[in-house]
Order: sequence, then structure tokens, then C-alpha cells
Amino acid sequence: MSASFRRTRIIFTLGPATESEAMLEKMIRAGTDIVRLNMAHAKHDWTRTVIRRIRAVSERVGREVAILMDIKGPEIRTGDVAAPIELKAGEIFDFTVKPGAGNGSGGEEIRSVDVNYQNLVNDIQVGDTVLVDNGLLRLEVLEKNDARIRCRVLIPGSLASRRHINLPGVKVNLPSFTDKDRADTTVGLEEGIDFVALSFVREAADIELLRAFLRERKSKVRIIAKIEDQSAIVHLDEIVRACDGLMVARGDLGIECPFEDLPVIQRRAVRTCLAQGRPVIVATHMLESMITQPVPTRAEITDVANAVYELADCVMLSGETTVGKYPVECVQMLDKISRRIESETDSATREPSVFTGDRMKVLHSAVVLANEIPFSKILTFTRHGFMAHGLAALRPVSAPILAVTPSVELLRQLRLLRAVEPYLMPFAAEPDATIENAIGLLRRAKRIAPGDKLIIASDILSQDRLVDSVQLRTVT
Ligand code: PGA
Ligand code: MN
Repeated sequence: MSASFRRTRIIFTLGPATESEAMLEKMIRAGTDIVRLNMAHAKHDWTRTVIRRIRAVSERVGREVAILMDIKGPEIRTGDVAAPIELKAGEIFDFTVKPGAGNGSGGEEIRSVDVNYQNLVNDIQVGDTVLVDNGLLRLEVLEKNDARIRCRVLIPGSLASRRHINLPGVKVNLPSFTDKDRADTTVGLEEGIDFVALSFVREAADIELLRAFLRERKSKVRIIAKIEDQSAIVHLDEIVRACDGLMVARGDLGIECPFEDLPVIQRRAVRTCLAQGRPVIVATHMLESMITQPVPTRAEITDVANAVYELADCVMLSGETTVGKYPVECVQMLDKISRRIESETDSATREPSVFTGDRMKVLHSAVVLANEIPFSKILTFTRHGFMAHGLAALRPVSAPILAVTPSVELLRQLRLLRAVEPYLMPFAAEPDATIENAIGLLRRAKRIAPGDKLIIASDILSQDRLVDSVQLRTVT
């Protein structure tokens, strides 16, 4: 990593290409902020092993990364097939919800596959579209009964076992937080994850289910809502308000919605998060071609740049780092593109509409001051994350937010936030001593030097009362 400072945070998904200790070390050193575990493909033994390994390698490297457990939520899949079925254009094909319901009645045989969701026949209507395997296969529903739906193949292809089904615009009555999600999250909590990402969030109530589950277990794990379908877009505002962070899950979104809507949705989602002061992740296919090639396409470079221009908090890698040939290069590439684009942005500081009240006004004044003073840095102290979250949400134009916290759990959660650089340090009894200690720590870390202008947002003790303050200090 170069010495200059990167504001955009990097998330990568752990998989066979990156799970070894040696690879993890390289990925963390290259600038990873958060490691994502995709529970759609993970066994519990593996999950426990890799979480412990991430913690151990972080400690050895001296950089605590956060762990995000991505639980799969409601999902419809096809069943097993003995050999891949080659679907032909125009062919009539059945999806069956009752075993043995497969064959057509009228003599000639209609091929079929089972689906793991009984209620499919009730949720879906004649004329609806069925997409299989990331949208590679497209079928149209012709008729249905309580045992199967009968479709015509519009876009042909090969159907292998256990493929993901998307039903654009269909309200699927599957539970939002499934038994598998519950079991996965329980393992995560036992192993000390930092974030849980809920897939296919359709409305705010879905997040409340998970929130209640976490609250019962007295967990401070923060919730990322993955928006992946049309229902999430309809309920975007309430979802953003209910979550602790949003993921624009473009993989499924690009299938569930008209693809030309995807950039519009991304921009709207990022802006909504900025307006509500919520962190936002842009995910999927950012450097897809680097799964097999050492350099990205020009279009991918521009896509990453677009997320940075939009002021997203994080960019995320999936297949690039689970099975790709160049996972370390992918992190380096995101790092390089982010730094370059950040130096170009002439963004205005935001004032999220929900940030009212005196405490936010004080933070806002700190950011205004930082924007006024070239090369200044913001220093803040945070026990529960309020100050760091507030400052990050205000999007200072170029100052980094050096956030000192006594809690390693909070330090990891701060990895989600744009421009925040967290430091671990116990607080002294006197706020002023804490400030002095932090300045010493940052000087020893060569993060600040004599002559630097620091804008300090913290509480200070005034006649036995804590008051929020903003100070301007020159490092001596
Ligand atoms: P997934 O979610 O990788 O879990 O499918 C991300 C996406 O759909 O973009
Ligand atoms: Mn998805």
C-alpha cells in the first residue's frame, strides 16, 4: 500500500483462492478492510476455521479486518438432475413442486426438474418469467396446476443441478430470515463476526426480524441489507432507514430488474444512503474479467471509478477473490483506482437530512473547518461509533477521519466507513489526556507530524460535565 490515504473501503469474498493463511496475509497487506463469508456455499466447520484464521492473521499482520457474514435469505433452487438438461428454444418444460408430477399427460414426454419451493405454483402467474442460473436460461409460464408450472423456453441453454431461480417482479412468500440463516448467524455470533448481510431484503420488516434475533442475543453485530429485487427498490427508503448499511447487490438486481435500470438504481440507492447517513457498498462484477485475466477491462475500471465518484463507502469483490486467478491483484487494482479517482472528486460535503440536533451540528462544524484548511486531518474519539459515523456521513472533501476507540469490536465495525481510519487505544480518565495520548500514538505511527493541522471532534470535561467540542490544534 502506498503511503497516501484511501477513502474507499475494500471488501473481498473469501473462497478457495484466498482462504490459506499465506493468501489471507497477502490480501490483508494489500489493503483489505472487510472479509466477506458467503454462507450460500459455506459449511459450519469451514466457517469457524476461517474466522479464527482471519483473526490470527490480522493479529500477526497488525491490521484488524472486519468479518461480514452474508446469509442467503429466501432462495429458490432447482433440484438435482442426473446429467445437465439441454433446453431447446421453444421447448415446453415443467418445474414441479410435487415429486413425480413431471410427465405430460398427452403422450409425448415433457421434461421437468423439481423446485425446492412448494408455494411456487401459488406465487407465480401465467405470463410471468422464470430465469434460471443467473438469468442464463429464460422461460415463460404458459399454465400451472398445484403440482407444477408449465413453461416455454425463450432463451435456451444447459440446466445443471441446484441452479438459482429468479422470478422478476413476483412476490415470493418465503420467510426472509430462514432456519438456515438462523443457524448460520448463530455460528457467526459464537465466533465473533462484525457484520451480517441479509440477502434479498424486500422490506424493512425483514431487517426487524434479524434485528430482534440479534437483540435477544445481546449482539452488537451490525446489519447490512442487500437489495436484490424489485420489492427492495419499491421499499428502498424504509430499508435504508432500518439497516446499518446497504449493499447494492448488482448480481441479482441485474436479473430481477430490467438491466438498463441497474445504473439508475445504483445511483438512487447510493444517494438515498448519503441522504440518510447510512454506509453503502457497491457489489458484484466490479473486476469480473480478472477472474481469469491479470488486468481489468476499461469498462470495469470505469465502473469502479463510478462507485468512487458516487461517494460509496465500499467496493466489493466476489468471484474475483473466491475462485479467481488474481485475487491480490484485484485488491491492488481497487486500491489504485480508488486513490486516483478520490484525488479528482470535488464533491461537496453532505448534510444528511436526518442528522439534526446539536451533536450533529458540532460534527458538521468540524467538517466545515476541515474543508477550509488544506491538508488538515480530523481526529475523533468514539466509544459507540456515533462521532465517527456522523463525520463519515458528512463526507469531508479531503481530510481523513482518524478515529480513536478503546474497543476492538468497534474498530472493526468502523472499517465500513468511507474515509475513516480507526486506531485502537484505551481512553484515559480525563478527555484531555486521551487527546494527548492519541496525538502521541499518531506521531509514533508517522500518521501526523509537527506542523499538521488537526481538527479534533471530541467530548471534553467542563465543570464535571461532558460537552461536545471542536478544536483546531497544530501538532507540535
Ligand atoms: P450474492 O449477492 O453474491 O450473494 O448473490 C450479491 C449479488 O447478488 O450481487
Ligand atoms: Mn445475490
